[in-house]
Amino acid sequence: MAGIYLHIPFCRTICPFCSFTVRRDQAKMHEKYIQGMLVEIDRRAEMLKDKERQENEEKLSGQILLKSIYIGGGTPSCLTIPEVSVLLTKVRENLPWSDQIEISFEMNPDDVNPEYLSGLADIGVNRLSLGGQSFQSSTLHKLGRCHTVADLRNAISVIANSSFDNWNLDLMFGIPEQGIAMFKNDVEEALRYEPSHISLYGLEIHERTPFGNNPQIRKWELEHLDQFEEMYLWATDYLEKAGLFQYEISNFSKKTNEGRQNLLVWSGQEYFGFGVGAHSYHRGTRWGNVRSIRTYLQHLGQNTWPTEFIEQLSEKQLAVEFLMLGLRQCEGINIKEWQARFGLHLQYQQLKFVQELCGDGRAFWEGQHLCLTPKGMLLADRITVQLMP
Ligand code: SF4
Repeated sequence: MAGIYLHIPFCRTICPFCSFTVRRDQAKMHEKYIQGMLVEIDRRAEMLKDKERQENEEKLSGQILLKSIYIGGGTPSCLTIPEVSVLLTKVRENLPWSDQIEISFEMNPDDVNPEYLSGLADIGVNRLSLGGQSFQSSTLHKLGRCHTVADLRNAISVIANSSFDNWNLDLMFGIPEQGIAMFKNDVEEALRYEPSHISLYGLEIHERTPFGNNPQIRKWELEHLDQFEEMYLWATDYLEKAGLFQYEISNFSKKTNEGRQNLLVWSGQEYFGFGVGAHSYHRGTRWGNVRSIRTYLQHLGQNTWPTEFIEQLSEKQLAVEFLMLGLRQCEGINIKEWQARFGLHLQYQQLKFVQELCGDGRAFWEGQHLCLTPKGMLLADRITVQLMP
């Protein structure tokens, strides 16, 4: 089983906190870019088939069964339905799909309308992810979003009247000038619409973004760490009580509505990313594409791979990755299996550290699984580093 990620880098405006591979949307760029992605998909599929032929003459193609396709960005809803369709058709021609495939599509609220949704449903999309972020005008303004609260409410009502019953709403917290009461209102209003999934992201300030270059925002971030924690802990508890169970640091869903692509990546399964900045993971090798559209297209035109980096993960890197991904998930990581798989043993220092985490209410044992509580998840990266023997 594997997943596919298709990256659409176009956005109508660029949000000041965004560190993704994005560029201002220009409809005239779509065709060239999509043509590039089609070439990349064809060539990657051919390469996989070649590899399989070399390894086993009997088993030609079809070994990789797609379980999930995620169309993200950027803003995929900048594309027209025929543009999205051509990409899905190309994937389908090259890689067999599981009958139960999940095809997720990210949308900006101002792009949601009944015709567009029915077009998406017709070409096989069966899950939507709505970049709502907040129901407060001032918060949307601060985030530099191009949609309004009215757009967001309208988008939700259109989705509610469509055939899509599997949909995610993104919410953000820890935003400058966003008070706790405002954030609570956001979560409460979101729950009234009964989304099957909520992704809750704390604002991260990245270097080389307008927010990252703004000393006032940096200062605000440092001065509000306690508020950040309070918001997160309140929301994890509130969402759980409302019937959306947490399955990962930032993700909450109704039972059986977990994001398939998320689960696949976190459980160490293979995925192939296409388009600028997209990452892939196949047989212990990870690679990432160049971020510039021009360079990406040049590579594909010259029959070279548009990769910016490629790395064969060492056993140690794989061990860290498994630990990190396991700790991010609520079901935790089976420490016994992890140790056996990588030939590692937690030493006295690490066991003592785990004991302290449990004593602090940041972790607990569920059989052989070490799980982090929401309080522990706030420190997941630091805990991962400390636990590596
Ligand atoms: S819409 Fe999303 S991807 Fe586009 S700039 Fe804003 S945060 Fe980045």
